Amino acid sequence: MKLTEQQLKQVDRQVKRLLASDSYYGKKYRELGITGVTSQEDFEKLPFSEKNDLRNAYPLGIMACDEKDIVRIHSSSGTTGTPVIIPYTAKDVDDWAIMFARCYETAGITNEDRIQITPGYGLWTAGIGFQAGCEKLGAMAIPMGPGNTEKQLRMMIDLQSTVITATSSYALLLAEEVEKRGLKDKIALKKGVIGSERWSDAMRRRIREGLGIELYDIYGLTEIYGPGIAVNCSCNSGMHYWDDYLYIEIIDPITGKPVPDGEPGEIVITTLVKEGAPLLRFRTHDLSRIIPGKCACGRSYPRLDMIQGRSDDMFKVRGVNMFPSQVEDLLKLVDGASSEYTITIARDEDHNKDVMLLTVEGEGRVDFNEMSKQILDLFKSMIGMTPKVIVVPIGTLPRSEKKTKRVVDYRGV
Ligand code: ZN
Repeated sequence: MKLTEQQLKQVDRQVKRLLASDSYYGKKYRELGITGVTSQEDFEKLPFSEKNDLRNAYPLGIMACDEKDIVRIHSSSGTTGTPVIIPYTAKDVDDWAIMFARCYETAGITNEDRIQITPGYGLWTAGIGFQAGCEKLGAMAIPMGPGNTEKQLRMMIDLQSTVITATSSYALLLAEEVEKRGLKDKIALKKGVIGSERWSDAMRRRIREGLGIELYDIYGLTEIYGPGIAVNCSCNSGMHYWDDYLYIEIIDPITGKPVPDGEPGEIVITTLVKEGAPLLRFRTHDLSRIIPGKCACGRSYPRLDMIQGRSDDMFKVRGVNMFPSQVEDLLKLVDGASSEYTITIARDEDHNKDVMLLTVEGEGRVDFNEMSKQILDLFKSMIGMTPKVIVVPIGTLPRSEKKTKRVVDYRGV
C-alpha cells in the first residue's frame, strides 16, 4: 500500500520536525543528508529505525520536542539490557486514547459498557492505555490491574462487568476459575479484548466458552504509542489499523524491500503525527500481511492479518518466505498429524538448489504415505513450494520443555 498524498505530507513534516531537533534521529538524518520526503521513492530510502536505536538513545535522546511539552514517559523493558524510554506530549497521549477508543468501538463496545481492565499499570503501556481509551469512549473503567483473582471475580460479579481486557494467558486463567467455581451464570461478560500475540485456537475456544464472550485481538507496541493501534472487527477478517495516525509497510525481513499487499512479511510502522518521539519506518519484527480489499463491515480502515510470529523465525527456501506458524496451520488440516514437526534445510550442490525436508509425526491409525501426499499437496497450494515430506510415528521427534527449535538450516554451514 503506497503513501497517500496526505500521508506523504505528514511524513515530510515528521522528517522536518526531527531535523529541527537535537534528537537522535535528527542528528542521524542530518548526517545522512536527508532533507525531506516528497515521493514514495524518497520515503523508501529513509533508513529503518530499530529498537537498538532507542537503546542507544537512552534515556531521552529520542525526544524530538521541547521538554516542557512532555507530559509522560513509558518504557519497554525488552528481554535483556537497556530499557527503552518513549516520551509523550499531551497530544500524543490524547491521540493514543482516540485510537484506543476507536478500537473499543470497532469491537462493538459503547459508553454503556463496564470495562474490567486487568493488564498492569505502570511504566509500560498496557493498563493505562486500556484505561484512557475507555474513558475517551465514555465507558466505565474498572481499573483492576493484574492478579488477585478473588477480587477480579468479585468485581466481575458485583459490578456486572461487560468487557474484560487481558492477556490471553490471564483470560484463560479467569475462564478456568469461573468454570471451576460454577460462576458462569453470575457474570455478565459479553466481550474480551485481548492483547495480541500469537495464541492457539484451542486457547481461544476455552476462553470464549469459559467466559461466554466474543474475542477481539488488539495490537500495539510501546514504541508506537502502545496497544490500541489495530483491532479486529466482528467480521473477524484481520485487524483494522488507523491510517490517519500510522503508515504500515510490510517488508521482506531478509532483503528489507517492501512486499506487495497480501504477501507476508515484517510489519514496519511510521508514525504520522507523533510529537514526543516520532518513529519513521520502525521495524517491529512482528510478522503479518496487509489484507487487500475492503472489509465486509464497510470500514475503510485498512487491515493487518493476525500476527503470525516474529521475523527472527522466518526462513526462505527457493525464493519463498515461510514461517513456522504457516506450517502449524497447515498441519492442523491433516487428519492424524500431531503438532510436532521439524524442518531441515540444506543446499544440494549437485543440483544447485536448496532442499527442504519436513518431518511430521503421524498417528498409527493413518496411512503414512497418504498423509505425506496430503501434506505435500497442501504445502504446494498454501505456501507455494514443494518440500520433501516424511511421516514418522508419534514420539519419534525430540521433545523439550523449552520452545523446540523447529527449523534447522544447514545452508552456509
Ligand atoms: Zn471490518
